[in-house]
Amino acid sequence: MRKKIIAGNWKMNKTITEALDLVRALTLGLKDVKDVDIVVCPVFTALHSVHQAIDGSNIMLGAQNLFWEEKGAFTGEISAPMLKDTHCEYVIIGHSERRTIFKETNEQVNRKIKAALKAGLLPIVCVGERLEERENNRTFDVIKDHVHGALEGLSADNLANIIIAYEPVWAIGTGRTATPAQAQEVHAFIRGLIRDAFGADAGQRLRIQYGGSVTPENIASLSAQPDIDGALVGGASLKAESFIQLVKLSSST
Ligand code: PEP
Repeated sequence: MRKKIIAGNWKMNKTITEALDLVRALTLGLKDVKDVDIVVCPVFTALHSVHQAIDGSNIMLGAQNLFWEEKGAFTGEISAPMLKDTHCEYVIIGHSERRTIFKETNEQVNRKIKAALKAGLLPIVCVGERLEERENNRTFDVIKDHVHGALEGLSADNLANIIIAYEPVWAIGTGRTATPAQAQEVHAFIRGLIRDAFGADAGQRLRIQYGGSVTPENIASLSAQPDIDGALVGGASLKAESFIQLVKLSSST
């Protein structure tokens, strides 16, 4: 049985004060949840303060990106060991906003995943098709390209420390969620790709989150799907009330 994992991607939102207000409410509201892994991913500048606020709670810390080199002349970048230094356990890699706005390639995503694993971080690897790709029946080709590109050169053992987030680009921040059936179809496809490339155990163990306009209203029907193991949540993770509700609703499915 795979444990569900709900992660909040705060994107470029919240000052340190605002971040602390939110996590204080989350630690109180979620303190009794045991059957779901709960992760918050603030901006880099809030990581240290958020860590101090959640230390000892059931909420874990994640970052939204990293650079693959460990240190050196890379102005403006943050490395995997630096994220470990702020007590991050997870890191989102290859989010569609990074692929689109910052032109991240599969090769770069792959290097980032390897750097994260080397430092002992658990990567949440985002994959997903754009609207025109879905409309042109290219969804499975795109997912295959993202999954194979991201995981190139990794082993079955590495897969035990990776989470994949299926995030159809057309559903991110749009209010247009994939139906549970649409999401399940792609999740099952991803699990099959992992099984084929890394073996039955790796496929069975892999946790696959759904992301794209997840709310307290749709989480239960998504979570009830056999291959959906939680959610990567943007907008609805920015308010304590909706994130708490969302985690609790996913925990009961
Ligand atoms: C995301 O940022 O990964 C995301 C899924 O955003 P939203 O929930 O706002 O669609």
